[in-house]
This record gives sequence, structure tokens and C-alpha cells, in this order.
Amino acid sequence: MKRIIFATGNPGKMKEIRMILADLPLPVVSMKEAGVEARIVEDGNSFEENAVIKARTVMELTGEPAMADDSGLEIDWLGGAPGIYSARYMGEDTSYEIKNRALLEKLEGVPEEKRTARFVCSIACAFPDGRIFTSRGTMEGVIAHDIKGANGFGYDPIFYLPELKCTSAEISPEQKNELSHRGKALRRMKEQLAKIL
Ligand code: IMP
Repeated sequence: MKRIIFATGNPGKMKEIRMILADLPLPVVSMKEAGVEARIVEDGNSFEENAVIKARTVMELTGEPAMADDSGLEIDWLGGAPGIYSARYMGEDTSYEIKNRALLEKLEGVPEEKRTARFVCSIACAFPDGRIFTSRGTMEGVIAHDIKGANGFGYDPIFYLPELKCTSAEISPEQKNELSHRGKALRRMKEQLAKIL
């Protein structure tokens, strides 16, 4: 075992992942760096199932340990939607400006206490000997009334953090790493792996 391949093609995510997993005894490399190309069908029924599918597929393709994440936004008023369909909600190619406006409209008139939502992230790490480790992290908030902020990506401009009195698109990348679902899940994964590597 000389490295862990992280199953993502997203360079922004890779930067965050490398920062958080920097002190693991094995280096974490992207699929691109490992020369791996894979079109993975995410047909699981939960964030965890999808993360396991991605990690296991890359591990089986390469024979090396592989890690993957799956994440999304759960809005309680919408029964947990868009959930595992967050990236595909209203179509993969639809802009987040449009997706975010549509969600704000769906929640028009919904009182504050019923606008609760959370970002969820599941991470899976699959080893060639069959062991699979998983972790999960969440960031709780409420759906805002307006689109606000230029940091982050995706649904950040409508995700309001009541304690900070701003959206997750208005905080710095460092602060987001500290608070985010992905940051928490990655740190929990790091704790598990530190015991066995
Ligand atoms: P995936 O984990 O790359 O499949 O992405 C899931 C989708 O969930 C993203 O495309 C975004 O729509 C949404 N999402 C996940 N994490 C965040 C976040 O931190 N901010 C905003 N949107 C997010």
C-alpha cells in the first residue's frame, strides 16, 4: 500500500481533501494523478451507498486503496429533497442560480422554524483486502429567503447559518472546512484510518 486514490474529478474538492488528510501516513492522490478514468453509475439509495460504490469501483479497477465521498442538501420541508439527487436536481446542466431560485420559490411563505436543512457528506474508503470504512458529517442550517454570497459553490448561497448570521457562501474557505459536512466526515475518516495505517 503506497497511496490512497480519491475518486473525484473535482479539483476544488481535491484541494480541500488534501489539506485535511495531509498528515495521514499515506499520500492521497486524485484519479487524474493516478491515471484512472472511470464513469461510475451512482445508483445507491443513500449518500453512504453511493460513496461505497465509488470507492469500491476505483479500488477494484486499480487494486489500490480508494476513497470517495457523496454529498448533498436535505431540506426538511421537501421531505429531504434534493438529497442524493442534489447534483442532478432540475438537470445536471441547469445553473445553481436557477436551482437556488426554484428552491426559494418552493419555500416561499414557509415559516422560519420549518425551513431547516442540512448538508450531508458520507465518505467511504475501500481496501483491496475487502475492508470498507465509512464516515459521515453534517452541517445544520436553514434555507434563506434570498441568494447571498459568492464563496463556496452549489447551494451555499441559500444555506443560512443562524449562529453566524450569514450563508455558507459568505464564509471563508478555511471556516467552511472547519464547519462543513465534508470537513467533519473527512476528519472522522482520518481518525479511523490513523488507527490502521
Ligand atoms: P457530489 O458529492 O460531488 O456528488 O455533489 C453533490 C452535490 O451536492 C453538489 O453538486 C452540490 O449541488 C451539493 N453540495 C454538496 N456539498 C455542498 C456544499 O458544501 N455547498 C453547496 N452545495 C453542496
